Amino acid sequence: MAYKITDECISCGACEAECPNNAISEGETMYVIDPARCTECVGSCQSPQCVDICPVEAPVLDPDNQESREALLEKWKSLHPGEEPKLD
Ligand code: SF4
Ligand code: SF4
Repeated sequence: MAYKITDECISCGACEAECPNNAISEGETMYVIDPARCTECVGSCQSPQCVDICPVEAPVLDPDNQESREALLEKWKSLHPGEEPKLD
């Protein structure tokens, strides 16, 4: 399941640089997550970095983008060819 950013976002920009998949960018009214690049941080980190850094808890799981851990890992591999995922 990818994360999405709700309208709680205050556009501070803190999450953009934290995303290991470059999935976050500045949208027209607030920051947005590209679900094709969000792996819930599976493959890179133990916890979702955007959630950890956001001061207003704007990123939430998107029930419209549900994926298994295996699918998230495959997405990570396609985004990081030749790299080894962190699985702990
Ligand atoms: S959960 Fe991780 S991969 Fe997804 S947008 Fe947040 S920081 Fe990026
Ligand atoms: S850290 Fe939170 S408030 Fe700041 S841009 Fe990202 S989602 Fe928006």
